[in-house]
Amino acid sequence: MQRRTILFARTKCNTVEKTDPYMKFTDLGLSPKVLSAVETAGYSEPTPIQAQAIPEVLNRRDVMGIAQTGTGKTAAFTLPMISLSEKGRARARMPRTLILEPTRELAAQVEENFNKYSINHKLNVALLIGGVSFEDQMRKLDRGADVLIATPGRLLDLFERGRILMTGVEILVIDEADRMLDMGFIPDIERIVKMVPFTRQTLFFSATMPPIIEKLADQFLQNPVQVQVAAAASTAKNIEQKLVKSPKKDFEKRAVLRGLIDNAVKLNNGIIFCNRKRDVATLHTSLSKRDYSVGSLHGDMDQTSRTKTLNGFRSGDIKLLVASDVAARGLDIPDVSHVFNYDVPTHAEDYVHRIGRCGRAGREGWAFTLLTPSDDKYIKAILELTGDDIAYVEGDAQASDEPEAKRSSRGRKTDKGEAAAENSSPRPKPRRTSRKKLNEDEVKASPAIEALEQHEEPSPKPKRAKPEKLERSGKRGRNRDDDNEPTPKGLGDHVPAFLMQSTRDVR
Ligand code: ADP
Ligand code: MG
Repeated sequence: MQRRTILFARTKCNTVEKTDPYMKFTDLGLSPKVLSAVETAGYSEPTPIQAQAIPEVLNRRDVMGIAQTGTGKTAAFTLPMISLSEKGRARARMPRTLILEPTRELAAQVEENFNKYSINHKLNVALLIGGVSFEDQMRKLDRGADVLIATPGRLLDLFERGRILMTGVEILVIDEADRMLDMGFIPDIERIVKMVPFTRQTLFFSATMPPIIEKLADQFLQNPVQVQVAAAASTAKNIEQKLVKSPKKDFEKRAVLRGLIDNAVKLNNGIIFCNRKRDVATLHTSLSKRDYSVGSLHGDMDQTSRTKTLNGFRSGDIKLLVASDVAARGLDIPDVSHVFNYDVPTHAEDYVHRIGRCGRAGREGWAFTLLTPSDDKYIKAILELTGDDIAYVEGDAQASDEPEAKRSSRGRKTDKGEAAAENSSPRPKPRRTSRKKLNEDEVKASPAIEALEQHEEPSPKPKRAKPEKLERSGKRGRNRDDDNEPTPKGLGDHVPAFLMQSTRDVR
């Protein structure tokens, strides 16, 4: 693989990094119509990944693009793709471009981006995602789509129903490529790759790329150029990260989390990540009972609720989103200022993506990770992967992003300051006692929460131990919160296809 690695110094930088101060969108070879759309979008200069990848894509090269979260990878593949689409004509039911995304929400977001960048083109885009009816999607396909933006499961379903011909695909984009090539998705990806022509151009993009996945990715690429503007898995430097020591018990963890939320003055919108779907639900209930403005998102929810919640969060009606890793990849919500890892992710790459939901496009972001004594090995893996030196704070009072005097209650339904928030909440004041004391006081103050907590309390239940063990086993696949419906069969103990492969040409 030809490598064009432009490694950036690990410095604090609040703007999208610039490769070359003289590099302009007009230098990259994009068509006038695309340049005009870029201007309308308000982008003055290309980001490094855009400056480096766009000319390569326009030269019809296969590309492996690695750049930090929130640095404009979507436009890095979309803009040249739209430029290239000006050559040639679409045929009915013969799309020329296929973009694969790991989640429905991300696919929908990429469609929005695509529409923004193609305002001067007459391209028909079909969004093919699960959880919604087939009819509209089939109608679109029958009318003729130039571009497919899809989650793998729905694409395969439609293909099997004879609704799509993929023999006209000239460009295949696999966004969040390392996620798409790990064992939850790889059987689907292998099938899809066999359906598109061998002569296609293939583009892979991600912020993380573990070496074993990179090796696999090479088999899908032909003489690729690697465009890497930062070390893979390096975190965006405009995100301030903190580790927050927390007791292990759920009700104590929740109190530490609330302390962080309440003390975060610059909190605009925040995403709270849990490792397990059931914890998403519990935490959601707990926070909403305390009058926080909160919604939840995980893969077992029906799509209508998922969409409604995400729209509410995007619009600012919902301030806090409790989510599983279904929200970890790619979502671009500029107002997200904070990420809270209620649980330490068990896959270190997920950490990079989770915290990458804040600090988008050079904005400031804060990422707090609650750390219980049993999380040591996971946090060690994260520190090794990212190379970051993350400071510890002791929870609650010290874990603020602003001086104490300015703190107020954030993330509540009412935003009239501490007094109003406290009035609408059963929580007592003062709140800044020692952490242990505060937690006990808080829990006792709320009968509803007390009931909830007591209900959850008996922890060594054999029933609960099982899923945790599976989740912690480090295996991805059925347990993970992904959208690769229908769920690939037999993946639990299945040896992933790529581990079985030698030099087989997977095209
Ligand atoms: P990534 O895929 O790298 O995580 P996205 O493609 O989602 O990032 O882009 C992150 C944000 O940056 C989006 O809101 C997008 O509109 C914005 N953006 C992209 N390119 C530029 C640019 N050249 N100048 C300013 N903002 C940009
Ligand atoms: Mg992206």
